Amino acid sequence: MSEPATAAPPSTALAKTRDRIAAAARIARRRPEDVSLIAISKTQPAEAIRPLLAGGQRLFGENRVQEAAAKWPALRAEFPDIVLHLVGQLQSNKADEAVELFDCIHSLDRPSLVAALARAMDRTGKRVPCFVQVNIGAEEQKGGCAIADLPELLNAARAAGLPVIGLMCVPPAGIEAAPFFALLAKLAADNGFSGLSMGMSDDFETAVMLGATHVRVGSALFGERR
Ligand SMILES: *Cc1c(COP(=O)(O)O)cnc(C)c1O
Repeated sequence: MSEPATAAPPSTALAKTRDRIAAAARIARRRPEDVSLIAISKTQPAEAIRPLLAGGQRLFGENRVQEAAAKWPALRAEFPDIVLHLVGQLQSNKADEAVELFDCIHSLDRPSLVAALARAMDRTGKRVPCFVQVNIGAEEQKGGCAIADLPELLNAARAAGLPVIGLMCVPPAGIEAAPFFALLAKLAADNGFSGLSMGMSDDFETAVMLGATHVRVGSALFGERR
């Protein structure tokens, strides 16, 4: 109405997604504010991101370092309170850049990356909280640490002084996700973590009911990826 024509209207998908998270949290007797909504903006241009910023969303996730480096510095100059998480696989040779660019890394999944991230954090003096990604469905092609290798990876991370805050997973596609979420929650509890990064557009309510502290939602917020 009195908005200038150029201002993006707040995203209605954002309001709807927040309501769905809050409803799932209440059913599970959890506080909605204990669930962080990460808007996964991979492949989306700045014009698609603006309606979410207009709706007050500040927490975003990207899956590629290069794409994030091209897209976010300009938006951050405008909205200094933006928080950016990396949710995609990370090559060790991009650890420095990732530590500079991101506020949290969800894809710590192997000893060589522990070493690279520890070096990068020492060099930059920036301590970036990490989730350890677990290959929860034991899928050949998928990133993530095998469940059997988790204790050793967590020990290595601890020894290197990495701030690990929880576990993350992407369950197998096409089958019910709930058992995998429940298994990740058990692994986290067994290892003393409260952080649980799980749940995407198709299953975030299930994830919230099973304890997710961070849900990673892309297409439900932005529509299909371009
Ligand atoms: C793309 C992506 C998401 C979001 O997926 P949607 O189904 O679009 O919600 C979440 N997590 C990771 C790791 C992703 O790569």
